Amino acid sequence: MQFKETAGPENRWASGTLDPADWNAFAKDAHRMLDDALSYLGSVRERPAWQPVPETVKESIQEDPLPMDGMALSDVYQVFLDNILPYPTGNIHPRFWGWVMGSGTPVSVVADMLASAMNPHVAGYDQAAAVVERRVISWLAQLFGFPNSSSGLLVSGGTSANLHGLTIARNSCTSFDIRKNGVRDIPPLRVYASTETHSWLQRSCELLGLGRAALRKIPVRDDYRIDLNALRAAIQADKKDGDLPFCIVGNAGTVNTGATDDLNAMADIAKEEGLWLHVDGAFGALAKLSQKYAHLVSGLERADSVAFDLHKWPSMTYEIGGVLFRNDSAAYDSFATAPSYLRPLGGGIAAEPMWFADRGIQLSRGFRALKAWFSMKTYGIDVLGQSIERNIDQAKLVAEYAQDHDDLELLAPAPMNVVNLRFIKRGLSDEQLETLNQRILIQLQSDGTAVPSSTLLNGRFALRLAITNHRTSVEDLNTFLAETVRLGTDLAKGANR
Ligand SMILES: *Cc1c(COP(=O)(O)O)cnc(C)c1O
Repeated sequence: MQFKETAGPENRWASGTLDPADWNAFAKDAHRMLDDALSYLGSVRERPAWQPVPETVKESIQEDPLPMDGMALSDVYQVFLDNILPYPTGNIHPRFWGWVMGSGTPVSVVADMLASAMNPHVAGYDQAAAVVERRVISWLAQLFGFPNSSSGLLVSGGTSANLHGLTIARNSCTSFDIRKNGVRDIPPLRVYASTETHSWLQRSCELLGLGRAALRKIPVRDDYRIDLNALRAAIQADKKDGDLPFCIVGNAGTVNTGATDDLNAMADIAKEEGLWLHVDGAFGALAKLSQKYAHLVSGLERADSVAFDLHKWPSMTYEIGGVLFRNDSAAYDSFATAPSYLRPLGGGIAAEPMWFADRGIQLSRGFRALKAWFSMKTYGIDVLGQSIERNIDQAKLVAEYAQDHDDLELLAPAPMNVVNLRFIKRGLSDEQLETLNQRILIQLQSDGTAVPSSTLLNGRFALRLAITNHRTSVEDLNTFLAETVRLGTDLAKGANR
């Protein structure tokens, strides 16, 4: 048999493949890209925290025709330098505290590059990547106080991690065979969580066929933690009605205020009532890395499953989150399938081909674990924990400052790393203050000064900082506070005129 060999355009590609014809020339381009990427990271502080994508740039990307013919790598790179690189989200900047985002690290960047070069398929298989992922999971289990026998997997982020936890809770907490029959012909399933719980839970209830009505939203107290009496009462009432409570979801760090539910009490209730306890610890679980602040999320270690993000507080590059299961067989029983083409063989690469794929949603899985492994080994847990600790200390400083300042108001307790405040001026209504603070927020962002986000707390508009940023210094926060007061004062003059 003979193939006709065709050289690529300008002989860029080795015939018949997508590899470079000249590896040395390719390496020269690639080295330049890595060098540029690292200086880009090193100089991040000199750039604005955020800037909008100019209309001309948007157009040039949007109107770029389907590229039938390739271009030189260096030319494509130039387009990237001009049109893409200057307009990021901003989350790698030291003064970005919007939503809950992570800022990444150079270690994570190079680890991702190496993972990409290996490009393994981590459904399982007998390969180093699978061994590394299982080790990373067992390190995390140790950090979070889970038993040796627990297991888990790395996933795309908190939403997916939480969905995995809730799925296993649903499938293992009743005597009904939900995997076979779905949720038809059984009493309505019920899951309980505070009103402050992140929107992943509603979405997961919808995806799992439970419907949002399955979600019993329990009120919180003044400190934004779940009202335990209301929780107990809701479970009792549902049981009395013949419904089927199956899961309690606890929060370790809510998005709005960083509140952590009383996880020990929730673990007790779950035990008494025979329910699964799942904890959403997207960022809060990572407080366990700090000796000083681990107590903030005490009780987390008693959960049946816990979800957490590694792309937020531990600063690994997107996307990486994880979920731990106390009982490995519950995870396996919830997800495993046995098609003939994925059958384990007695040896060879396919001895345990589906170890991860049998415990989660994804079949094809990348080598996320490598950046976790590199980060944990290179920085060490103490240093990662200190950066988390520093952010909590910084949040406390901002909260105290806002409390003491005549022109600022602290709008909620700040027990962890989330602070909510607003600029105030005597005589203005909540509504006027909302308009004023929205304008402050937009101005701070448009000037490239800082990126807080916002939320509503008891109907009051808050400038909200979630400090999950290892690059943030106290001066950065002072800059934000000073600018907020300056803009607020200026804009209020305008408002009164
Ligand atoms: C970010 C976050 C999530 C969702 O995680 P993703 O990684 O964005 O999918 C869920 N819960 C909390 C508390 C979060 O902060």
